[in-house]
Amino acid sequence: MSASAKNNAASKYRPETRLVQSGILRSQFGETSEALFLTQGYVYDNSAQAEARFKGEDPGYQYSRFANPTVSMFERRMAEFEGAEAARATATGMAAVTLALMGQVRAGDHVVASKAIFGSCLYVVEDYLPRYGVTSTLVNGTNLDEWRAAMRPNTKTCFIETPTNPGLEVLDIAEIAKIAHSAGATLVVDNVFSTPLWQSPLTLGADCVVYSTTKHIDGQGRCLGGVILGSQKFITDHIHTFIRQTGPSMSPFNAWVMLKGLETLAVRVRRQTDTAATVAVALAEHPKISRLIYPGRPDHPQAAIVAKQMRGGSTLVAFEIKGGKKGAFKFQDGLKLVRISNNLGDAKSLITHPATTTHQRLKPEQRTELGITDGMVRLSVGLEHPDDLVEDLLAALKAV
Ligand SMILES: *Cc1c(COP(=O)(O)O)cnc(C)c1O
Repeated sequence: MSASAKNNAASKYRPETRLVQSGILRSQFGETSEALFLTQGYVYDNSAQAEARFKGEDPGYQYSRFANPTVSMFERRMAEFEGAEAARATATGMAAVTLALMGQVRAGDHVVASKAIFGSCLYVVEDYLPRYGVTSTLVNGTNLDEWRAAMRPNTKTCFIETPTNPGLEVLDIAEIAKIAHSAGATLVVDNVFSTPLWQSPLTLGADCVVYSTTKHIDGQGRCLGGVILGSQKFITDHIHTFIRQTGPSMSPFNAWVMLKGLETLAVRVRRQTDTAATVAVALAEHPKISRLIYPGRPDHPQAAIVAKQMRGGSTLVAFEIKGGKKGAFKFQDGLKLVRISNNLGDAKSLITHPATTTHQRLKPEQRTELGITDGMVRLSVGLEHPDDLVEDLLAALKAV
């Protein structure tokens, strides 16, 4: 079984085509849909082949912690869509972030990260890395002077998320990459909030892109997963052996679900982005909303950077209900269609009150610094009809 030459040439096609056709490893049965190889191991024709495979002289599979054909198909499809030389899939998005950072550093090194990152990412940078002797500095990601001032001779890597969670601020990937590189460090970008459809950090100068594929790539709320993308050298030097020897591998079943998710990614994310923009228009001037942030609107605080580095807005909208926590709770509890959940990127619209859930661990002054007020909610827009969503949101605002 091997990838046909036809499929290996998929990268010459446009993005939507690559999402459907890239990376297929068709078996001897000629199946249309990608096969699910639920197998732990592989058998060898003879002892010499087993020896050659372990020596790396015979290409082929050995054990599914190292590689599996279904997982390989997902990795190849992701790499070709992102425009990366190589990709490795992981069990979760947090495994991807943790590996992308830990794979590059050793005791005595230093990491710089933006303050506005996903809660667990902040935990890894602030609490776990220092346990192993890796110091870290957190900066206000939109302030390039803070980035410059944070660089040290032992800074190995920088980590950002843009747009940020939950404030949807946009960071300048190209400028931060320049600062990192001039200090001899790499830049890792968590690209979950923009999705690979709307932003390509590698072409903007980043060295590594990570996704929680749990979000838009699955897109239908089923499986956890993650993926790390970069140059072949980056993946070989920092990621491949780490995954192989420590084991945070993606399960073949989850890779199969993610492959099927990729087929519809462009259609879903485009539609969800259009609906999010419609929702933003309907809510921006509402008398019970004090502030609304949506990348793609001219009133976004970093509208110029959005125009420079993103091809589309976001499937998420953040806004602040007047009346603080009480107002936000009343609003969320009044929704009938949109459900309360900390998840995002689902076909179902979901809403979160970050101050009391995903970001409750932070001190009040840290939340203030990140713009997470008591009235702020983060809406992940799904695939429902835009009119139904707007009607649900407006009805709940009436009750506030
Ligand atoms: C969800 C998320 C993660 C973590 O991914 P899991 O799949 O839940 O482990 C990391 N970064 C961002 C921006 C996320 O939204």
